[in-house]
Amino acid sequence: MVYPFWALRNNRLWQVEEVEGLQLTSGERRPTLTTLNEADPLAGLPRDDLDLLSRDTELATRIAASVLLRFFDPLPAGLLDAMGLAELLAGHVDTALRPRVGESFTNRDTIADAYGGNRVLGITPLADGTLTVYSDDKGPYADKRIDGTQWIAYTGDGLSGDQRMRGGNKSMQRYRTEHRALRYWHKPHKGQWMFETWAVIVDCHRRWGRGEDGQMRREYAWVLAPVASPLCHDWPQPILDALREDDSLVRDHTQDTPLNETEGAEALGDHERYRRLSAAAGRTASRRSARSRRTEVDRYFRSPAAREAVVLRSGGTCENPQCLGHPPELTDAGAPILEVDHINDLGNGGGDIPETMIALCPNCHALKTRGRNRRELQAALIGVAQQRHRAFIEDRKRESARQTCFFT
Ligand SMILES: [Zn+2]
Repeated sequence: MVYPFWALRNNRLWQVEEVEGLQLTSGERRPTLTTLNEADPLAGLPRDDLDLLSRDTELATRIAASVLLRFFDPLPAGLLDAMGLAELLAGHVDTALRPRVGESFTNRDTIADAYGGNRVLGITPLADGTLTVYSDDKGPYADKRIDGTQWIAYTGDGLSGDQRMRGGNKSMQRYRTEHRALRYWHKPHKGQWMFETWAVIVDCHRRWGRGEDGQMRREYAWVLAPVASPLCHDWPQPILDALREDDSLVRDHTQDTPLNETEGAEALGDHERYRRLSAAAGRTASRRSARSRRTEVDRYFRSPAAREAVVLRSGGTCENPQCLGHPPELTDAGAPILEVDHINDLGNGGGDIPETMIALCPNCHALKTRGRNRRELQAALIGVAQQRHRAFIEDRKRESARQTCFFT
């Protein structure tokens, strides 16, 4: 056991006054705690350092702010008052820290030259110990803002193969459970790296994605909520609520999706694939229903199975029976131009399952969302989706009957 009060003498930034009768143990050259308390010597910064900090308030603020962020984050209530720092730091902690929000650099090397830290990793601390995440629009994955929120879905650590809860991901999970703020750096396409914002982690999902090697793999998506400063008393109520509601669990969307059933999927008929996709979407939807308060985030991570099933059911053509004509042109990827839509908004109780979703051409999608008769159309489309869903499942039975005949 070493008491910092005494051990700090070794770094030359801290002096303990010489006092009579302070008995040192022979082996470790330190006083026992009892004799140290009895002698109660004065201690503090060396004279020159103290003078410098007394003259240069800005320097003092910077040092105090960095020490607080590194060792006392989240900041315990009353700490600044107790240490006599409240006046020095009031309103200055985030502006005293370096780098400042908005600073930009041409590349990772120039960031590291100025502020230390690793030059390559995507999730890694700067020299001041604060975790920093880098998001490059040109990189292997573009991290996206979640629709309807300012939150960012940030892909975790690991370029190819399933990502694991280690390295950068482990650091993210620690910051998440400790409610600590990290630095979010962003580099737009052809732009510079910029320290865009402080952020806290309010959620984590595990989803299917494509690794740098082009193969499907399981990856983490960390949900980052931007905050104005690293100090929690500056954070708005909705973010404090999100942190309080967060249970620190990883929401895994990779168990039920059919992507792990796709081996030999080509051999399955469309109707059997549709049935499996529908079943997978249903399992995912039922697990999510308890988390209705996070609609936007859930919408962002909505089931790829449900979407895939609806596309399959549509046969590549608008499912609106009143459609005036589906555009024949295909996308760059050779896919039909279709918008898979929740007929009722997810937030209004529409489930993420094929029975309540429909594939529409852009015209019909606009009529359904913005047309004067949209209410009537939505009511009709719900019936259409349910009827087409049942019909597709029925066809599966005929399909498997055919297959049975074929094989026997
Ligand atoms: Zn249409």
